[in-house]
Amino acid sequence: MEKPTIYIVIPCYNEAECIKETTKRLSEKLSHLISQNKVKKTSKVVYVDDGSKDKTWELIENISSSNKTFIGIKLSRNRGHQNALLAGLMYAKEHADAVVSMDADLQDDINAIDKMLDKFAEGYEIIYGVRSERKKDSFFKRHTAQSFYKVMNALGVEVIYNAADYRLMSKRALDELANYKEVNLFLRGIVPLIGLKWTTVEYKRDKRFAGESKYPLKKMLNFAWDGISSFSVKPLRLVLTLGIIVFMISLFFLVYIFVQYLCGNTVDGWAFLSCSIWIVGGLEMACIGLIGEYIGKIYAESKHRPKYCIEEITDVKNQK
Ligand code: UDP
Ligand code: MG
Repeated sequence: MEKPTIYIVIPCYNEAECIKETTKRLSEKLSHLISQNKVKKTSKVVYVDDGSKDKTWELIENISSSNKTFIGIKLSRNRGHQNALLAGLMYAKEHADAVVSMDADLQDDINAIDKMLDKFAEGYEIIYGVRSERKKDSFFKRHTAQSFYKVMNALGVEVIYNAADYRLMSKRALDELANYKEVNLFLRGIVPLIGLKWTTVEYKRDKRFAGESKYPLKKMLNFAWDGISSFSVKPLRLVLTLGIIVFMISLFFLVYIFVQYLCGNTVDGWAFLSCSIWIVGGLEMACIGLIGEYIGKIYAESKHRPKYCIEEITDVKNQK
């Protein structure tokens, strides 16, 4: 197979502290891969600025004007990691044979790209980077993330265990990805749905190079819930089961209460009655809320709103 042009896509949100070092290391990596004849000289890195509030975009502009290997895409505002990543992937697939996606903070070991390229040369279309260890993540992050993968699998969502958004996808796989029109984007669930020939490569997850995680607990929970509710109807089924169980129990109590009534003990039942009203009321509300979540998803999908808006691309400017 002829050596490929690869694009590395990196979503960036307030990553001013990381971007210089990331640029340095990726620039070295690409030169190395080019000198080893593994990729074509036309290979590039694409930074997608996800509406950062710090100097990220200025830095990207500077980098791309002095080094043609780097391209910047500026989204019109913050649309979240998954949308920013998709914007970059859809841009890159028009120019590259294979696209690697990774984070800006160098947590993903860039040396895994070599292994991914070897697998790509063997004919694999999707190569997932899997974290063989994540000792350097905080205890909290490690455990929440790992239980998330377990919950997803238990709910019947096919995600690759311990694989995040560090992966290589061929142009063909990306063309297929483009056919998934959903607005509630959870790439880790969608990519395995594409199928095609896939494999994994292992790497060690490092500490964030600089700055703080751009995924605070609230964003992380939102992301996890998006993943679950976009891919699994099991929670709805759970509600139904719960409803049936509660109904059965209440039938039993109905008999009990009737017997108590016949025995003339009804006034004593006040505490019990008020408790049941609260419990059943709460359960009902939770169930309605859960159904509401899914209706909310349908509402968002039915509007077919665009997932991002590109304000500026540096390579177009460079060509003038
Ligand atoms: N990110 C983004 N938009 C957001 C939040 C995060 O583009 O709204 C990017 C961020 O710049 C980084 C990647 O997504 O390149 C992953 O974020 P982070 O490393 O903070 O997440 P963590 O590794 O803590 O899960
Ligand atoms: Mg990170």
